[in-house]
Amino acid sequence: MQSNYLGLLSGIEDSDSKCGFCGSQVFLTAKNEGVCNFCEAYIPSETPAKYKPALSEIQKLIDLGKIEDAKAKADAIISGNMDPSLLYGAANIYSFISDFKYYDLNYSRKGFMEENSANIYYSLDMTSKSKEMFYKAIKTTLGTEGSLNSTQSLYLLSMSNLKLKNSIEAIKYISMMKEDPSLPKEYSRMVYSIETKNKEAYERIASLISKGNANAIYYLAKYYVNNKKLEEAKLILEKFNEKVRMPMSVFLLEKINRLLEEIAL
Ligand SMILES: [Zn+2]
Repeated sequence: MQSNYLGLLSGIEDSDSKCGFCGSQVFLTAKNEGVCNFCEAYIPSETPAKYKPALSEIQKLIDLGKIEDAKAKADAIISGNMDPSLLYGAANIYSFISDFKYYDLNYSRKGFMEENSANIYYSLDMTSKSKEMFYKAIKTTLGTEGSLNSTQSLYLLSMSNLKLKNSIEAIKYISMMKEDPSLPKEYSRMVYSIETKNKEAYERIASLISKGNANAIYYLAKYYVNNKKLEEAKLILEKFNEKVRMPMSVFLLEKINRLLEEIAL
C-alpha cells in the first residue's frame, strides 16, 4: 500500500476537471470519471449536464477566505430551492464552514476565550444547518420519480446518509446501486466501511487506490486514525495535502496534530 499511494500521488498532475456541483477540483481515474475533492459528488466520464455555477461562485469566495460572504451566498441559493444536488452541495459547504470555524480556534485566537466560545456556537449552528440540508436533499431525492433507479440519485442518497452517520440507511441505497459504472458503488462502500470500522475497509481503500482514485488516500489516513496509528496518518496527509486540495484532509491533519500535542503533554 505504501508504494501504491506514493505512486498515485507522484502521478497526480494538477487537474483541470471541475466538479459539476460545487466547482471544486476533481482528479479523474483512467476511466475518466472521478469523485469531487470537496463535496465527494460522483463525476461521470461525460461532462455533467447539470452544472451548478451558483455553487462554484461560493467555492471562489472560500478560496479567497471570504467565509461570511460564502455563507451568505449559500443561504441565498438554497432559499426556496428544491434541487437535491444543490441542497447536497450547500450541505457540504455549511459543513466546511463549521469545520473551518472550529479549527480556526487553534490558529489565530488561542487564548481568547470569548471569541473561542462564539466560534464554537457558530460552528455548531453550521453543523445543524448542514444536517438539515442533507435531510432535505434526501427527502427531495426520494420524492422524485425514478430516483431509486438512478445511480446518481442512489449515490447522493448513500453519501448524504453517510455524512449524517446513518450507516444503515446508507448501505440500503449502496446495495441498490448498479455495478456499472463501478466507481459510485465502490466509493460509497469504501466510505461506509471506514465509517462503520468494517474489516473490509483496508481492502476497499487499496482497490480504489490501485484504480487511481486520489480521495482514497485520505481514507487510508482515516483508516490509520481509526486504528490509532496517528503518526502514519499524519505522514500520509502531509504528502497528500501537498498535491491535493481537499478541505476534509486539511481538517483531519489539524485534528491529528492536536491529538498528538495532547499526547505529548
Ligand atoms: Zn463538488
